Amino acid sequence: MQEDADVLILGGGVIGLACAHYLLQGGRSVRILERGNVGAATSHGNCGTITPSHAPPLAAPGTIRKALRWMLTPDAPLYVKPRLDPALAHWLLQFARRCNLGDWRAAGLAKAALLQSSRTLIEGLIKGHALDCEFEPTGVRHIYKDAMEFEQACRDSPGLAEFGIATEIVAADRLARDEPALLPGMAGAIEFPGDAHLRPDRYCAELARIVRAQGGIIEEGAAVTGFIAQGGRLDGVRTSDGPRRGRDVLAAFGPWSPAVLRQLGLKIPIQPGKGYSITYARPALAPRMPIVLKERSVCVTAWGSGYRLGSTMEFSGYDDSLNRRRLDALERAAAEYLREPVGPVKQEEWFGWRPMTWDDLPILGQAPGWTNLWLATGHGMLGVTMSAGTGNLLADLICGRVPAVDPTPYRADRF
Ligand SMILES: Cc1cc2nc3c(=O)[nH]c(=O)nc-3n(C[C@H](O)[C@H](O)[C@H](O)COP(=O)(O)OP(=O)(O)OC[C@H]3O[C@@H](n4cnc5c(N)ncnc54)[C@H](O)[C@@H]3O)c2cc1C
Repeated sequence: MQEDADVLILGGGVIGLACAHYLLQGGRSVRILERGNVGAATSHGNCGTITPSHAPPLAAPGTIRKALRWMLTPDAPLYVKPRLDPALAHWLLQFARRCNLGDWRAAGLAKAALLQSSRTLIEGLIKGHALDCEFEPTGVRHIYKDAMEFEQACRDSPGLAEFGIATEIVAADRLARDEPALLPGMAGAIEFPGDAHLRPDRYCAELARIVRAQGGIIEEGAAVTGFIAQGGRLDGVRTSDGPRRGRDVLAAFGPWSPAVLRQLGLKIPIQPGKGYSITYARPALAPRMPIVLKERSVCVTAWGSGYRLGSTMEFSGYDDSLNRRRLDALERAAAEYLREPVGPVKQEEWFGWRPMTWDDLPILGQAPGWTNLWLATGHGMLGVTMSAGTGNLLADLICGRVPAVDPTPYRADRF
């Protein structure tokens, strides 16, 4: 049977696109099958920060206490919608079990390895292929209003060196001089000079451009509806536009992974972690580098072409409504820290479902029970940051090269 490509890539988000690029570089032909438009789902309206500084996982000692406190605040950054959902209950239980120092440290080190590799690769990819995506290696600052929280962050910051994270403490007076966009009275900031940012929709569009330029095929409007399997092998997939065949199949469905891959008997422990963003025209006085408003967990990113507030982690299943209270909370939080909290023109209100695993590590590598099915999903809050590292690692595995990063912690059979 004639193949449509060496590798069929299912899903054209930032992960599918990055995998396509690195497979092409490895000499494989690729065909991306995307049911909508590439980069138009979770990879579209996110905050666009490139943050190896986020290596410490969410499941940490103290997270449960904090989460329970937040549950009592209707517009808090974390919200679990109370409902009977066995998959969510299991996920939360597994997450809670990992809120200890040992698991936190192990997952942090595994995350750090992929994040650091990806941070280096992204810059090389953007420079090497002249990707026009407003990339700037400015660093990112975490801003504290509360003096006690800031003091605690200062005490904790040397410990981040273990994850390869450089930090710099910015005292209140220097912060006030350095960042005129902030209101007076901030307690201080922790700066992460190794972080960067880009415009994620532009990054995806540029990845698609170089994939096509290298001979990759991108089919938009091609929904995967089923799989053509023989024993433990996939011959191809069924799509809304007919069957497609490939020697290997790489599934990068992001938050939709559990539903689609269930057809193959795979249980993918991903919950959608809903987040919101609002995009504006750039205000005159925008922060010089992305900032995280720590007490409110809101991220503020400014590009030459715009300005975005983004945040919240809501476990409400695949609920696709835009919650006004949560959107308003973004603007309220920004007004507590910034002189010009919003831009002059509102351009887009958006939500996305982060593909969250309970150990905060992505699922990368061969699918259990399938010889030629590969998984690249579960990137949670860091899919843009991990994109190039993931693409490179999957290309290493599929092309049979020695992987640049030890793939063991990300294996799908760990659950
Ligand atoms: C508010 C918010 C802020 C964020 N900020 C950041 C940040 O600053 N930095 C960072 O690194 N990450 C950030 N993230 C996380 C990041 O957006 C995600 O981790 C990343 O976009 C996931 O990419 P993906 O390719 O796996 O998923 P997606 O972009 O969702 O791609 C999956 C694709 O699969 C397609 N698909 C689904 N089902 C089918 C089917 N049956 N057939 C064909 N195609 C199908 C979908 O249409 C979609 O295009 C943020 C997320 C949110 C919500």
